[in-house]
Amino acid sequence: MFTQKPIASVSVVIPIFNEEESLPELMRRTQAACDELERDYEIILIDDGSRDSSPELIQQVANDKQSHFVALLLNRNYGQHAAIMAGFEEAKGDLVITLDADLQNPPEEIPRLVAKADEGYDVIGTVRRRRKDSMFRRLPSAIINGGVRRATGVQMSDYGCMLRAYRRHIIDAMLQCHERSTFIPILANSFARNTTEIDVDHAEREHGESKYNFMRLINLMFDLVTCMTTTPLRLLSIVGSAIAGLGFLFAIILLLLRLLHGPQWAGDGVFTLFAVLFIFVGAQFIGMGLLGEYIGRMYNDVRARPRYFVQQIIRKGQTFSPTSEDEKSS
Ligand code: UDP
Ligand code: MG
Repeated sequence: MFTQKPIASVSVVIPIFNEEESLPELMRRTQAACDELERDYEIILIDDGSRDSSPELIQQVANDKQSHFVALLLNRNYGQHAAIMAGFEEAKGDLVITLDADLQNPPEEIPRLVAKADEGYDVIGTVRRRRKDSMFRRLPSAIINGGVRRATGVQMSDYGCMLRAYRRHIIDAMLQCHERSTFIPILANSFARNTTEIDVDHAEREHGESKYNFMRLINLMFDLVTCMTTTPLRLLSIVGSAIAGLGFLFAIILLLLRLLHGPQWAGDGVFTLFAVLFIFVGAQFIGMGLLGEYIGRMYNDVRARPRYFVQQIIRKGQTFSPTSEDEKSS
């Protein structure tokens, strides 16, 4: 295997959106797990525009001079992956670990991830043993996981699990990607040479509920599809041609039947035609919608607004307010 630099320091990146109930336990358990590493470490907490007391909580822990916690406050909610990107920008470690704030992925697994990275892997994913989510949340994930595996060719079985570790060079490569709608695990895999997966426990969400409602899940799914490939666009023209071809055949059959059975039959056939028409109209709408998804994302990228805006950084008790020149205008 490729020889890799030894890992001297570890950064843990945690996006937080209205997680005040889980935060105290999260911080305690993550710190305990990191202490076990016996290396330099930092825990970067990114507040993704929470409306509860989460920002105050993380400001408080980061304010201590000895603290390993770094607080990053975004001015509003940008979504989980944008928040993680903001965290990456701030992370200094040789290995960066992402973790969800809801304690569904136990922080106690961090030492195992680091040990695996020591073996020389670039990206270490995790697979949720006995996943504890509702059917409603699991089904879309299953479809996504299958689709991604086919489209990217990267063999990873569980993309939804955010407990992951990335080496420095992967993080640097990801930071060079300026598109706004990203799905981090997939982006990372496209830069990785050696990836591996380990089994981790998955707990039930104890406090609050999933921050992904149905619409946000759909949005995430489109992000995921459009971020990695333009295959759906090609698929669109293939499916379109197939339908058009079938429609043409069907038209010929209808014409023949009309000639054979006379106009009376054709009068009744109007309804068949309508049915066929609806299929085409439906197919067109799917196609246009998909085009719209890409165009919408292009529009966002062309506008080139900052992907997120960090309002305040607190590190070792010091507060920085990023000024306009080091604003993250990636
Ligand atoms: N999250 C975030 N911004 C958002 C939505 C979620 O930072 O807009 C964070 C959230 O606080 C949690 C993680 O992303 O740490 C995963 O969210 P959640 O547990 O709700 O997702 P699920 O487990 O249902 O995939
Ligand atoms: Mg969760």
